[in-house]
Amino acid sequence: MATVPVYRWRLAPDDLATRRQLRALGLRPGGQDVAAQVERPRRRRGPLVAYLYSIEQAKPVRPMTPAKRAALAKANAARRTCPACRRDAGYVIPVSLGMCATCAFPEEQRAA
Ligand SMILES: [Zn+2]
Repeated sequence: MATVPVYRWRLAPDDLATRRQLRALGLRPGGQDVAAQVERPRRRRGPLVAYLYSIEQAKPVRPMTPAKRAALAKANAARRTCPACRRDAGYVIPVSLGMCATCAFPEEQRAA
């Protein structure tokens, strides 16, 4: 790997970001090489090193694949299905109830 500039902690240029900072911006390094690194000195141990990437060259986080989207939709549907009446409640079944409101409070539903 080519040598990269090393900056002191917090003194890195503004157009560079760590992987974590990119993620907060909805970005990922996208195959680019490390542009620089920052080092935070630590007592008696080696410095803490973080790698920096160019924000300019970063790419948006990969969009969700259709398969992943389908799996997520299925999981959400399962969470909305009441285990007592097997109906889609239209909302996520509260863990505290363990069933839909209609099943949990039949009297109140009839009164309403
Ligand atoms: Zn129910």
